[in-house]
Amino acid sequence: MEVRFLDLSQQYAGYRGRVLQAITEVCDKQTFALGPAVAAFEKRAAAYCGVRHAIGVSSGTDALLVSLMALGVGPGDEVITTPFTFFATAGAISRLGARPVFVDVRPDTYNINPDLIEPAVTDRTKAIIPVHLYGQAAAMEAIAEIASQHELKVIEDAAQAIGAERNGRRCGSLGDLAAFSFYPTKNLGGFGDGGMVTTDNDELAAKVRILRDHGQDPRYFYHVIGGNFRLDGIQGAVLDVKLDYVDGWNARRRALAKLYNRLLADSPVQTPLVEAENLCCYHQYTIVAPQRDALKDYLAEKGVGSAVFYPKPLHVQTCFKDLGYSPGDLPVAERLAEEVLSLPIYPELTDQQIHYVAGAIRAFYGAR
Ligand SMILES: *Cc1c(COP(=O)(O)O)cnc(C)c1O
Repeated sequence: MEVRFLDLSQQYAGYRGRVLQAITEVCDKQTFALGPAVAAFEKRAAAYCGVRHAIGVSSGTDALLVSLMALGVGPGDEVITTPFTFFATAGAISRLGARPVFVDVRPDTYNINPDLIEPAVTDRTKAIIPVHLYGQAAAMEAIAEIASQHELKVIEDAAQAIGAERNGRRCGSLGDLAAFSFYPTKNLGGFGDGGMVTTDNDELAAKVRILRDHGQDPRYFYHVIGGNFRLDGIQGAVLDVKLDYVDGWNARRRALAKLYNRLLADSPVQTPLVEAENLCCYHQYTIVAPQRDALKDYLAEKGVGSAVFYPKPLHVQTCFKDLGYSPGDLPVAERLAEEVLSLPIYPELTDQQIHYVAGAIRAFYGAR
């Protein structure tokens, strides 16, 4: 049996007709930069996330960047975040001349450990960026508490968490601002790059809207220095159609995760812990596996794709060496980088395929 790590073509067949029609409408109107399709998507995406404002932008990376810009983060400022995330979370901080301050993660949820945040706060700290890694919300109440005590802003990195909830509230509504990615492999993926900022704050929303289009309002009158962070009309049209399917897809991901949990219980691998407060959207299903690299090779031999998110934590990346971190500084993230393995979890997988993957994992350890 072959179980590819990800296969978007099966899913495409399910909504192909609707999406092609939506794209054709954008082409017929020639409204490629922002435009009515983006505005329509923004309105529905805001309602979906339970916030007043959603602002379409060019990528998840730019959603983080423009959110930090809207908060006025710049040189001399510090922003607390996790080292166990995609590069862009910290890259956006550094690009504005601010300093990422990395705080270690929890070994069970893989998310930033809220107990370690407060000791990292200084009088230069401006914001916290928790990441809802693999589709599970970070410990937002504890983070909000620290933020309010120290007058910090919170930006959710919700790139992997569309439709995920904490205490019944959707990700994107849990911080001052949130950044989403619509990179094609995300739970809601466009036909190219795209992203979105959500917020309930009218003032911040107005800032983000202006910043994503060079800081102009009206055209050719510049209030602040922004950039070209616009979302394409075609992406807005595609995302508006695909938004209808997200809840169904996420539910199927949860069913697959439940099956993995059952089949891998009492095996040598650690299955992902989802906190009682959370409804996880399983952007990834990530285990902690002894002899991870050998397991990955073995699965590949058996026709099973898997992936490592992420093989090297950010605090020890070459590009951040000036920050002065050393190996050993954030031991949980460093260990996870060596032991995590993400298994296939897209909604089109059959139960039979999950049985096959779990069986192969058990066979790997059984043979040793
Ligand atoms: C995908 C991702 C991003 C960046 O999104 P792009 O759309 O690829 O720029 C940022 N943070 C996290 C956690 C991500 O997974």
